[in-house]
Amino acid sequence: MTQPLSIIQATVITQDPQTPQAGAVLVGGGRVLAVGELAELQATAPRAGLLDHRDLILTPGLCDAHTHLVTYGFSLSEINLHGARSVSEVQARVAQVAMNTPAGSWIRGGGFLLSELGVSGYPTAGVLDEVSPHHPVQLYSRDHHMTWVNSAALRAAGITEATPDPEGGQIVRPLGCLLEHASALVSAVMPEPTEAEYLAAARAGADDLAARGYVSTHTMAYEPPQAPRALQTLAARGELPLRIWACLPHSRLDAARDLGLGSGSGGLFGWGGVKFFADGALGSRTAWLHAPGFADGSGTGIALDPPELIRERGLEAIALGLTPVTHAIGDRANTEVLNVYDDLRAAAAARGIRLRIEHSQHLRPEDVPRHKGLVCSVQPIHLQADAPMIRELMPHLAEGSYAFKSLMDAGAILAFGSDAPVAAPDPRANFAAAVSRVDDGGGRLAPAEAMTVEDVLWAHTRGPAMAAGWEDEGHIRPGARAAFTLWDRLGGNARALVL
Ligand SMILES: [Zn+2]
Repeated sequence: MTQPLSIIQATVITQDPQTPQAGAVLVGGGRVLAVGELAELQATAPRAGLLDHRDLILTPGLCDAHTHLVTYGFSLSEINLHGARSVSEVQARVAQVAMNTPAGSWIRGGGFLLSELGVSGYPTAGVLDEVSPHHPVQLYSRDHHMTWVNSAALRAAGITEATPDPEGGQIVRPLGCLLEHASALVSAVMPEPTEAEYLAAARAGADDLAARGYVSTHTMAYEPPQAPRALQTLAARGELPLRIWACLPHSRLDAARDLGLGSGSGGLFGWGGVKFFADGALGSRTAWLHAPGFADGSGTGIALDPPELIRERGLEAIALGLTPVTHAIGDRANTEVLNVYDDLRAAAAARGIRLRIEHSQHLRPEDVPRHKGLVCSVQPIHLQADAPMIRELMPHLAEGSYAFKSLMDAGAILAFGSDAPVAAPDPRANFAAAVSRVDDGGGRLAPAEAMTVEDVLWAHTRGPAMAAGWEDEGHIRPGARAAFTLWDRLGGNARALVL
């Protein structure tokens, strides 16, 4: 039996310079077969079924270029502290869950931002003990670079005032907050989810993205190995609604080489990148900054993976056909990564690999032109909550923060994402933030960096596809994957259409 053919009628934006606009698309066997006007395609394929979306806009399918998909799936059933505006609001939500949870069971949640809670220092364990003396509690900050825990959690992990800071982390005193790798001291003693729970979380995360109009995503490595395994299981069962480009943590590179793992494993799940972290994050004051550092006197942040390590292991990744992917938030972290990448450019180009930076968040003006040909995987939605913090903590870097237009003009390939669960994977919010630059404080962050809605669409479709080396995605032309997004207007309500 032959595959059925379909014609989609819509206002088609192709992102193919040959035919930028069209009235219909002919699809069969999961591929685009032809692009043109309705009458002409109906003449070509008279028996094709018609999908009449003439009142909608059809574009290449949306990709979220930075997610922690399974963690996001888990977060959908945990305490959601996005938007919590005070410590007492956090206490109320924890108390509510504690009432309905057997004593001794862990309570998890996340999404708070210290600045939004109105606290200047780090909150203590005692604040959570007031509402949860018998349940260990672990709450992630929105950027996931810090956790806030109660005394029961500290006891379970054996952390006391006398415990030394672990490498790459800090135990804040008086006790209550754990920065960077210090959070792992508590995570390590929490009960491990079962395989079925991982599968359920993977499915919940993927289904949520698909329902928002996404057809693909790039998953980052800040997750346990059970997470990509669950996604691979869903892909093998034909139950994955998204195409996935996944990153390995660099610590697994040796195992990957020994197993002969490389890019392009086929199907909807593929390994593509190797993840490094040059620094922490802004809200936790762990972003790595050039002097003078944070304006509140809290220092110049934390450097994580040393540049020499990124250089050495980056070359190993490239030799396996995998893309180096480096998290860099602070201006110093970005300078250091650019220096390393200058040394990797020739090797990457020889393998057809595009070197990639995650966040590219705060840049010195002299570093912007150095991004030519690099992928900048950035998250416009984060500027909404970050802008008030930027003005307070690093006013000297405001103009070089989320510098999307300048990066585009410098020849960088922009790939937009949400960093879910750090922010909700909401394409409308990403479009609004990148076009308007309006932040939660009602101001506009570096308004000269505003983008057009067409450029945002490109950065949410073709940019990520180029970053992943997907020649068949991000544009609508013969041979492309038949994975689209339908819109009432660009940047408005969206839904996925995968045939
Ligand atoms: Zn992330």
